[in-house]
Amino acid sequence: MHKFSYSRASVPQEALASVGQEPKAKFVAGGTNLFDLMKEHIECPEHLTDINRLDLAKIEGFPDGSLRLGALASNAATAWHPLVEKNYPLLSQAILAGASPQLRNMATNGGNPLQRTRCYYFYDLSTPCNKRTPGTGCSALKGFNRIHAILGTSEHCIATHPSDMCVALMALDARVEVLGLKGSRTIDFADFHRLPGDTPHLDHNLEHGDLITSIDLPAQHFKNVAYLKLRDRQSYAFALVSVAAIIELEGASIKTLRLALGGVAHKPWRNKAAEAALVGKPANAAEFRLFAEHILADAIGYGHNTFKIELAKRAIVRALEMALNAKS
Ligand SMILES: Cc1cc2nc3c(=O)[nH]c(=O)nc-3n(C[C@H](O)[C@H](O)[C@H](O)COP(=O)(O)OP(=O)(O)OC[C@H]3O[C@@H](n4cnc5c(N)ncnc54)[C@H](O)[C@@H]3O)c2cc1C
Ligand code: SF4
Repeated sequence: MHKFSYSRASVPQEALASVGQEPKAKFVAGGTNLFDLMKEHIECPEHLTDINRLDLAKIEGFPDGSLRLGALASNAATAWHPLVEKNYPLLSQAILAGASPQLRNMATNGGNPLQRTRCYYFYDLSTPCNKRTPGTGCSALKGFNRIHAILGTSEHCIATHPSDMCVALMALDARVEVLGLKGSRTIDFADFHRLPGDTPHLDHNLEHGDLITSIDLPAQHFKNVAYLKLRDRQSYAFALVSVAAIIELEGASIKTLRLALGGVAHKPWRNKAAEAALVGKPANAAEFRLFAEHILADAIGYGHNTFKIELAKRAIVRALEMALNAKS
């Protein structure tokens, strides 16, 4: 590992000052992704600011029913929190489908959305990769692209975002609270991550030195939910395709439907227009399949990953059926 200096911040302003004013400084939270990338020489910060002493580990419910997930609350504490289990079971399911208990104990809510792609070539310093070294090319386009994206891709990058938690946050209309040197702001989760376009090295819309302080969930109590994760191994593997599904009925018709896909794009994928078109329709497999066809209409396969198009369609139908049958 290359040399770097290290400090611990006690208050957010101290953290912002030490990272914001130093272009090659980074925050470290759980370290479960950053340290791996440093050991592989993919991330080479010259200074690390440890933010674990900041008072950002609370999970707080508010009188209006909304919930604030502190950026430094661990993924495990979040998944098992009584208010998350009761009101946001989709989030619990998605977090618990990821990584391992040990990793979830270390991984934080602020670090999870900022984890980087698992594209093999991104990790292999001997190969061209526009995300790692802009302008060098994309080895995955014509390479072994079994785990890669089928939606929202560009000729510059076909990587996926690997998080499970973020797929549920997308379906739950989460918001990210951010503190920067210029003040605080809120980013809708739908606008947090970026598509690759011609700047695939930029994964998200944070600026250098921005600190995530919390992830906030609006008041909602959906019970008919399901998180379906399809992967090569039953545990400890990233999703080939995952689905976060929410469905509410009025009689036999669909009143609310929300669905986000993971493992298929550079960001969790959601199509609100397709969801709206299903309102009032009967909740059955035929309608779910039409919905899935609509969502995957623009999907492109790159060879090894072309199977994901049909896999995603079937996963959508299956996840919606699972959500319908979830215990209310
Ligand atoms: C073997 C393995 C298997 C895994 N499997 C899965 C899986 O199946 N599903 C899944 O979703 N994830 C999986 N993960 C990823 C894991 O969930 C992430 O590594 C973790 O969530 C990152 O959180 P962290 O706190 O450790 O972040 P860190 O590694 O500390 O930081 C990651 C990035 O976020 C930045 N950062 C951290 N906190 C903040 C903040 N508050 N504000 C601004 N920037 C911040 C850091 O500067 C860094 O750039 C796996 C990881 C490993 C190692
Ligand atoms: S898909 Fe993206 S991350 Fe993977 S090699 Fe291509 S540019 Fe790099």
